Formats: sequence, C-alpha cells, structure tokens
Amino acid sequence: MKILVINAGSSSLKYQLIDMETEAVLAKGLCERIGIDGHLKHTPLVEGKEVFNEDLAMPTHSEAIAAVIDKLTSPQYGVVNSMKEIDAVGHRVVHGGEKFASSVLITDDVMKAIEECIPFAPLHNPANITGIKACQAVMGKVPMVAVFDTAFHQTMPGKAYMYALPYQYYLSNGIRRYGFHGTSHRYVSARCAELMGKPIEELKIVTCHMGNGSSLAAIDGGKCVDTSMGFTPLVGLPMGTRCGDLDAGVIQFLMHKYGYSIDEMLNILNKKSGVLGVSGVSSDFRDLDNAAAEGNERAKLALDMFQYWVAKVAGSYVAAMNGVDAIVFTAGVGENSSATRAAIAEYFGYLGVKIDPVANSKRGEDIEISTPDSKVKVFVIPTNEELVIARDTRDIVG
Ligand code: AMP
Repeated sequence: MKILVINAGSSSLKYQLIDMETEAVLAKGLCERIGIDGHLKHTPLVEGKEVFNEDLAMPTHSEAIAAVIDKLTSPQYGVVNSMKEIDAVGHRVVHGGEKFASSVLITDDVMKAIEECIPFAPLHNPANITGIKACQAVMGKVPMVAVFDTAFHQTMPGKAYMYALPYQYYLSNGIRRYGFHGTSHRYVSARCAELMGKPIEELKIVTCHMGNGSSLAAIDGGKCVDTSMGFTPLVGLPMGTRCGDLDAGVIQFLMHKYGYSIDEMLNILNKKSGVLGVSGVSSDFRDLDNAAAEGNERAKLALDMFQYWVAKVAGSYVAAMNGVDAIVFTAGVGENSSATRAAIAEYFGYLGVKIDPVANSKRGEDIEISTPDSKVKVFVIPTNEELVIARDTRDIVG
C-alpha cells in the first residue's frame, strides 16, 4: 500500500509518498507560492530518478496537487507508474475541536465538521480544507483520511483543559485548552515506550516538542493529561516568535498605550515576541547560540527564559502525573541542540536525572542521552508526523 501524506498551508503544500510495506519515503516535496506564482521542489528518494526544482504556475491548490501527481508518476522524476498506485491520502488537519479525538475517513459530514472548526483555527483549517478539496478534485475517489493536531490531547481531563472563565464560554463557544503538535507528542511517546521495552500503559512521559513552535505534553499511560499550548498555539512556552504565557492585562495596557488594533496586537504576540522579541537577534536558536557565545546578553536571556520555561512546565507535569519515567526531546531544537538539552536537564537534578555528555552530543537517531544510573530516562527522538498520518490512513482505509 502506498500513501500520499499532504500538509496544506495557505500558500504551500508539503507532501510525502510512503510505501507502507517498508514505511520508506519514496518521494517528498514542497509546493510554494501557490496563488502567487508557484514553485515545486520534488525529491524522489529511489535510485535513478531526478530532483525537480522549478517554478510552475499554481493559481490554486488544484494545480499544485496536479503538479505533484504529475511528478510522482513521471518517468524522469516519478516513483510510481500511475496515480492508481496511490491507495489513499492522509491529510494533516490542524484543528478538530472536541469533535475529533482520533483520525477519521473523510466524508461530506467530516468536511462539514472540519469547516465548523474554522473559528478555532482561522488560518490553518481553511488551508487544510482547500488541500483536501484539491486532492478530491484531482484524485477522484481515492480514500482520504484526516489526522488532527488536536486529537491526541482530547484525553485531557476537565481540570487540565478548562479555563477559569464563566462556564458559558465553554458551553456556547468551546473556549478551552485544545493543544497542538498532538501527532508529534503521540509519535515520540509511543517510540519512547518501544525504546524502553515497556507497555506505554505503564509509563509516565513528558514530551518536549521544541521547534520554532514549542509545546510540552504530560502523557500518563499513553494518554495525554496536559499540554502547554491552549485554545491557540500562542501560549505555554516562549517560542521562536510567539510570546507564550502572558498576563491578559498586558494586552489591554499595550493596546491602550499605543492605540494598537487587535490585529496589530496579535501580530506582535504571534510574530514579534518569543526569543526573537526578547533577544532582538533572531527567532532561530542557532543564531541565538552564536550571539550568546559572542556575549550578547539579551540572546543569553532569551535562551535562559526558554530553558527555564521548559523545565518549569515539565516540573508541573511531573507533579500532575505524580512522577515521571521518561523525558523526551524532539523537533528542530530538541533534536539538534545538545547545549539546550543539557541546560534543561540541569534543572532536573531533583528528579535524579543524569545526562551522558557523549550520548548527548550525537545527532540524527533515536538516542537515550541519560546515564544507566539516571533515575529518569531521557531520550532524543526525531519526530515523524508524516509516518503517523500514513499509519493512521492505512489503519482506517484498511
Ligand atoms: P522546527 O520548527 O521543528 O522545524 O524547528 C526549527 C528550529 O530548530 C529553528 O528555528 C532552529 O532554531 C532550530 N534548530 C535547528 N537546528 C538547530 C541546531 N543545530 N541548534 C539549535 N537550534 C537548531
């Protein structure tokens, strides 16, 4: 069975074609500037086929999908002979609200429910819907599955997902913590249990997804019991450009003081804050590491804040679960920055965490970075959301 995994944004579309017999990625690529002009980078991962990296007119997502299918089936760049070899499509959908606690086969009713979740993710869900419709237009009756970023977090209890606001806002408008990066937290926690050789039902795990966007999750017995992102991805840790947790009074103060509109304010909180805002240097942790090494105090402060927040939120999850067996680092920063991991692990001394510096300096694979006598195991596990989407699609399509 071969499954096409699609992650559609408003002007971009990422894809992978995965052979489920081996779980090997046959080809991957990215369409960019959809609706503007259009560019496709298509990379086949089988021998003898060429990379395609050129501008291509893509007035809508339909042309983008058509270009992807054309390249996947081309003698020069392709990895399959015809579209008939693509058995199913798995779509990443950001927000499933309270309607979706797991992945589902896409039907007309499911499309309606995804549309009803647009108010929760006004930038992402419309793009995901456009991607699904474009695939349906180009690929006809090929079965399609939606995999939601929010679904894994639906097991959180009310005490974790409720905001202490008047209850009517939850009842009437669904105002609550939903959480994001669920597919990533699910993948790395399951992989952590495999690496430990124990059933996930017996484990308490804190997963730290640390990338440009960052979130932590508390996973008790395989079920998410808390996570740091909320109604939107804005809250929790300070991120590349997002502010993380913030006193709502600051918003009122700044809007009043500078006459910002709500859109201007949200743009500051989403795009100009986080480690970029504090450092004034960059949202990229590599730039911050370099600047801090050259003595830039604000870059150092931004890194210190990020590490402190990861440790503080992780500590609260140890309390929430009444213990922890393993801590997992993943995503761009978590997988690549041994210095950040080591600095965060310093805070975990009270848990009896000990890091092996040699293991912590390695990269690229699933690695246990704690020492054999560490009381809590610590892992680096590269996330693989596409594989989860492909596996769910296979399981649902059968
Ligand atoms: P992601 O959102 O998961 O793609 O992660 C992207 C982030 O990973 C970038 O903003 C970088 O700051 C960070 N990153 C990637 N490589 C490194 C590295 N070697 N050291 C520190 N940060 C890194």
